[in-house]
Amino acid sequence: MAEPQRIVIIGSGLAGAAAAGALRDRDYVGDLVLFGRESHRSYELPVLSKQMLLGDADEPNRVHEPDFYEDRRVELRLGVEIVRVDVDGRSVEDSTGATHSCDRLIPATGSTPKPR
Ligand SMILES: Cc1cc2nc3c(=O)[nH]c(=O)nc-3n(C[C@H](O)[C@H](O)[C@H](O)COP(=O)(O)OP(=O)(O)OC[C@H]3O[C@@H](n4cnc5c(N)ncnc54)[C@H](O)[C@@H]3O)c2cc1C
Repeated sequence: MAEPQRIVIIGSGLAGAAAAGALRDRDYVGDLVLFGRESHRSYELPVLSKQMLLGDADEPNRVHEPDFYEDRRVELRLGVEIVRVDVDGRSVEDSTGATHSCDRLIPATGSTPKPR
């Protein structure tokens, strides 16, 4: 199977960032685009929701510093929500209607607890 040229990851939280880092660690050399709905880099939620509330931390940690993305040639596209995946067309569409091509897609969109 041919090496993918462009991998898109949807979700800029811990899972998305870890996937991007793992791909580079495994010598993936193609384009890597990471989309995140929030306009800021993701926080580490345990610190945000626990140490900060207890007054044990002044600021929440970000999942990664900007260097992480730059060093690994990850195109970080924050404030962009992906609203449609076209599997046959190998592309994703954002909320502005713009489409972004990809050879491979990694959904890392997190999950929401289901109330019972
Ligand atoms: C308040 C809180 C406290 C927590 N505390 C702890 C803890 O103390 N210990 C622990 O082990 N775990 C804790 N967790 C759970 C842990 O943080 C999560 O398991 C972890 O954040 C999951 O990472 P993730 O990358 O899979 O998802 P998320 O962190 O949810 O990231 C998913 C990202 O995908 C983005 N996204 C989703 N859909 C789209 C879309 N269509 N287009 C573009 N972007 C999209 C979201 O905006 C988000 O940035 C906590 C979770 C929360 C909410």
